[in-house]
Amino acid sequence: MERFDKNGKLIIPLTQRKKGTKELDEQQVRYVLTEAYCPNGCSIIDKENEINGVPGLRMKFKRPSMEGEMVLSAIEGDFDKIILSGELEDGVKDELYCPHCDIMFGKLVNCNCNPDADMVVIGLTPKLDFNNSISFCNVTGCVNGTSIKSGDILRHMRLRGY
Ligand SMILES: [Zn+2]
Ligand SMILES: [Zn+2]
Repeated sequence: MERFDKNGKLIIPLTQRKKGTKELDEQQVRYVLTEAYCPNGCSIIDKENEINGVPGLRMKFKRPSMEGEMVLSAIEGDFDKIILSGELEDGVKDELYCPHCDIMFGKLVNCNCNPDADMVVIGLTPKLDFNNSISFCNVTGCVNGTSIKSGDILRHMRLRGY
């Protein structure tokens, strides 16, 4: 299911969208991120790499055997991403870092998909505010995976008693 965008970069839809739902999807109001920051306050919005017409969120990923950079869609519920370098592996966890200053993104709670999976937190303000942030699982292919979802972090916090 691999394909290339107009700039020749690889886009991998990790989760297939349901067929025949495109019209419905377009009628829905979708949450689109226009700002996202690393814990040190670098903007990670990447205007060079748009996904579905919107500048994506750029980050570095690292695991023992691999490192690279990817851009996530800034559109809520959109699993499309661009792999700039390296490779992601289904079911495997990566640590995520700022592409500018190399600080690791914060983690809040475990994702229930895997004992060592984490929900990574990305702030929408230069100074991290949990009420204004998104979170997603750092395991490739997880249903809570690298697709942004507003509000999820607060639900997770309540569930886990934080
Ligand atoms: Zn940074
Ligand atoms: Zn997960």
